[in-house]
This record gives sequence, structure tokens and C-alpha cells, in this order.
Amino acid sequence: MALDHLGSSLYEALRRVFRAPVVDEETVKQVARDVQRALLQADVNVKLVLEISKRIEDRALKEKLPPGISRREHVTKVVYEELTRFLGEKPAPLKIEIGKRNVLMLVGIQGSGKTTGAAKLARYFQKRGLKTALICTDTFRPGAYAQLEQLASRANVPIYGDPKEKNATKIALEGLKRFDGWEVIIIDTAGRHKDEKRLIDEMKRLERTIKPGETILVVDGTIGQQAAIQAKAFQEATPIGSIFVAKLDGSARGGGALSAVAATGALIKFIGTGEKINDIESFVPSRFVGRLLGMGDLESLLEKVREAEVRVPEKKMQAFLSGRFTLTDMYEWFESMRSMGPFKRLIKMVPGLSYNIPEEIMETAQDSLEKWRVIIQSMTNEEREKPKIFKQSRIRRVARGSGTTEKEVKKLLEQYSMMKKMMKTLRRKRFPFFGKKFPKMT
Ligand code: GDP
Ligand code: MG
Repeated sequence: MALDHLGSSLYEALRRVFRAPVVDEETVKQVARDVQRALLQADVNVKLVLEISKRIEDRALKEKLPPGISRREHVTKVVYEELTRFLGEKPAPLKIEIGKRNVLMLVGIQGSGKTTGAAKLARYFQKRGLKTALICTDTFRPGAYAQLEQLASRANVPIYGDPKEKNATKIALEGLKRFDGWEVIIIDTAGRHKDEKRLIDEMKRLERTIKPGETILVVDGTIGQQAAIQAKAFQEATPIGSIFVAKLDGSARGGGALSAVAATGALIKFIGTGEKINDIESFVPSRFVGRLLGMGDLESLLEKVREAEVRVPEKKMQAFLSGRFTLTDMYEWFESMRSMGPFKRLIKMVPGLSYNIPEEIMETAQDSLEKWRVIIQSMTNEEREKPKIFKQSRIRRVARGSGTTEKEVKKLLEQYSMMKKMMKTLRRKRFPFFGKKFPKMT
């Protein structure tokens, strides 16, 4: 879907926070700029974009760190919260009373996605166990009834309509009578108007007679920021309204539509993300942002940051890379990793390293970690600092002392020289994160 692009560029912005050697003022400014660029590309209003990036910068730089939260986590949190905020502060689920009649009326200009949206909503509520029905009052567009009927049959939802009747209100009232005792009744309307004013006039007329519990304006997300004009007019006209932003799969301007609508203060309750009947989501800004970023929610995002924060002491790393890598270092390194979870995941967090360690080494490393520790413990200090002195007799002694076999001790020594060599190679290749400028992992 087109929002994926926005999602991935926002995620890239956050990755900067994950990966930066130190999260300082420059990092924050760059992140704010990245977010700016991502939002502008998604047609978000320039003023809004500047506002959000400024807020990110201000909060990230000036706010005191909450206890137990690192700078890195805090910046991530700020970005997440500010993105959520500009999509509408509060989650706004549609209020449906179980066991009672809930009438929803869909309005919107022609082609915005009402009929599709009506069927999607019907499917949505039906899936949640509510007795749901549809009414088609579009007497204007030829084939309107057939279109909704086709969609409704796919959802297995009953529909009322009368292609021969010209009076929309009459059809609606008749339908409501027929579906007496149903829990959710969704009314699809014609919305033949191109301009907002006449659309609103008709909506008001329909509202007076039908008295829906909620009127939902369907806006086409592909029109980007323009969606705000409709939302604003609608917002002023009806106190019981919410918004359904359709076609968010269709264009890169979805972010613009969502943010512009949210900026009017109108409540977005649903979004449409495709032509199929199941392509509907209830809109909860925080969850939406989480999904956009490819994460569940703020917590899972912060978890990701915490993972990136695993400490590998800088001094040690420097030493490894310069080739001063002894068995003592190896031992300490393993020791410090021991409490931190799977080796494989851990090593991936050392920038540049995961790409260079063969998969099978990582696998065996995890299994062997315990054994290796014991073996190294059974060595003398001299052996640990100068592994070159290992000869057969020493190997035999260490094997006996650690309750392992000579083969296993040799294996450890092989792993050791392999790691040592690898570190050297890494340094030679001058990986961006290595060498002199090895990052502080804090
Ligand atoms: P209406 O005139 O307001 O009733 O709009 P329709 O429901 O007939 O939709 C107009 C067109 O937009 C149809 O071709 C739909 O298939 C398409 N459409 C509606 N919602 C979505 C959506 O979320 N994504 C995509 N890609 N197309 C949609
Ligand atoms: Mg229609």
C-alpha cells in the first residue's frame, strides 16, 4: 500500500536514532529533518510539517529524561508521540450499543468510496457478531443498488433497496422498518454533488428524517490535503459525525489526507485500504503510527531501541579491532553478553559485525558459550593473554581441568583465532562504524 512508503521513510528516520553512536543535538536535528522530508513527500501540509518537526526537536532537546529512560529511547518516544498527535489525539472508536438499533449513514461526494465503505463497515460489524444490514438510498446512479447488493452478498449481509423508487428518504424509512430489531443498519447515500455545500444540505435533510446515530463522511484519501475542505464543512454541519478516509492504498498522498482531516478536529474513525470488502481498519492514531513504522506500539518500538542499546564496552571493542584480542577479552565479552539473551541476536547489534560472521559460527557460538567459559576459566593468566603458547600438553591439562575434551579445547582455540582474524579484517576494511570512530554504545 502507498502508505508503506511513508512508513518506511519514517522508519528510516527512527533508525538514525537506533544507530547513532551518540544521540546528540545533531542527531536530533537530523531526525527532525528526516521526518520533515518523509511527511512532505506524503503531501502533508507544510505548516503542519514544520510544526511537528519543531516539536520533535524542542521536546527531544529540552525535556528532562524521565527516570529509567535513555536519551535514545526518549527521542524515539517523542517522534512516535508527535506523529500520533498530529493524526488526532484520542482514539475514537465508533459507539455501537449492542442489542439496540444503531443507524449509520454514509455521505460523501460521488466516487469517494461510500458504497464500498458501506459494505466494508457492514462486514466489519457483522464479523464482530452484530446483526447488520444495509440500505441503499442511491436513486441517482444507475446500478447503485446492484453494486451494493453484489458487495453485500460477498459479506453475506442483507440489503434493502428499491431501484424503481426515486425518493431516497422513503427508501431509507422503509428499510429501517424492514430491519426492525437489527443492531447495525448502514445507509449508503447518493452524494451526487461535486461541491461541499450542496452535499451538506442534502445530508442535513436526510439526517432530519432518518435520524442516524452517526453520520460518516467518506473522503477520498487520494486527494491528499484537499480532503480537509470536505472534512471541515462536514465538521461544522454535524455534531454527530465522523470520517472514513478511503483509498489510502491508492496514492502517496494518504498521509496528507489523514493529517489534514485530523487537523480540522474531525474524528477519523475508519480508513479504507483497498477495494476488497475486508480492506477496512478502525483508526486509532497510536496504533496506526505503530503499524506505519512496522511496529505494534510504542512499547515494541522502545524495545527495539533497547535492543540496539546493548552495551559493548568501547575500550574493549577498540582493542579487539586493533588485534589486541586475547582469550581474556573473549571471556569478558562472552561474560557480558551472557545475561543479555541469544548470542545471535546480540551480535547483530554490533554494527557491521552481523554481516561478517558466518551463520554457523553464530549458531554454535550460542551452544558453546557455556562450555567456552568453563574452558577459559581453566586456563592460566599467561595462557589467556598469550594463546600462542598453547601446545598439546597445555591443551590436555585445560581439557582435564574443565571437564571437557582436548578436541573441545582445540575448537575453542580455533574459534578464538577466527574471531581475532575477523576483527582485524573488519578494521582493515574500515567499516563506517569501526576503527577510530567506533561508537559509544550508550
Ligand atoms: P461512491 O460513489 O462514493 O459510492 O464510491 P464507490 O464505493 O463506488 O467507490 C468508487 C471507486 O473507488 C470504486 O471503483 C471502488 O472500488 C474504489 N474504492 C473504494 N474504496 C477504495 C479503497 O479503499 N481503495 C481502493 N483502491 N479503491 C477503493
Ligand atoms: Mg455509491
